[in-house]
Amino acid sequence: MRKLAIGYFLCIANSSVFVTAGLTLYLAFATYPVSVIFRALGWRELARTDRLAGITSLVLGSLGALTYLIVIGAFVIEAGGSSGPMLLYAAVPWTVYSFMEAVSYIRFGRLSRMPTFYLAAVSVPAVLYFDAVAIGLGREVQLPEGPEGTFLYMGGLLMLSGLMAGISFLRYRPYPRTWGAPVAPHLPVRTRAERMGPLQIAGEASRGAGAVTTRPARPVQKVRVEVVSMGTSIICSRCGTESPLTSSSCASCGAAFQKAPYGLRCPVCSAPLRIAKRISADRFVCTQCYSDLRVHLAS
Ligand SMILES: [Zn+2]
Ligand SMILES: [Zn+2]
Repeated sequence: MRKLAIGYFLCIANSSVFVTAGLTLYLAFATYPVSVIFRALGWRELARTDRLAGITSLVLGSLGALTYLIVIGAFVIEAGGSSGPMLLYAAVPWTVYSFMEAVSYIRFGRLSRMPTFYLAAVSVPAVLYFDAVAIGLGREVQLPEGPEGTFLYMGGLLMLSGLMAGISFLRYRPYPRTWGAPVAPHLPVRTRAERMGPLQIAGEASRGAGAVTTRPARPVQKVRVEVVSMGTSIICSRCGTESPLTSSSCASCGAAFQKAPYGLRCPVCSAPLRIAKRISADRFVCTQCYSDLRVHLAS
């Protein structure tokens, strides 16, 4: 979730415009578009585990770009006249995507039980406050200055929101898709294990510490892998994220899962049995889906 963390930490720089009364305006012109791009890309990454994040990515990406164009336009026109109305127009897309982000913060707060996500939603009162001030001042509104003290308060809330969202996404680890397809497909475990039938392995399965070799050698034995208790998801060994058993790579970091097309493998997630951890003479734990497996030697 590094993209989202970077994007939201950059928001602190954007929002400083309101606190420094425009002194950091040129900084914000540079950081705002970068921040929107990072946030939109970050939400799109999350869309693999949550559909709402995908919608947030689209809304944020398109309306963020629109907001930026309007603000830049207003700034250019300001040299020749009033820019008040244009800044009011910029407030509309800004308000819409900020609401979308806040809804997503709350959703991810519920998913992750991280209070910092809820705190990030303080951007909503800040944006509404800006809208109220902008509407109240009508054509008079000047974004950098504004009325005494009000933008200071608002900018503070926005900076807090960016900080909290950034911290949240630094720590957040996504869960499998919870909106849409079921997390774990129903696998006919027993029949599948049986259907795999006897497999041939080399040497004896009870040899050595931990691994069963798949290299052909003698004596050849018939082996069947029974599922004692079935894992419900694949846990990424690189980042710890859970993915559905059928996935071939991590939903979060993209690391490829180990799938053996044939031979001795975990009947639940198809990981080769050589990466399973041996816990007794015939018992193994799949290190990919954490299913308990029993290896039967049928010779
Ligand atoms: Zn991963
Ligand atoms: Zn497995």
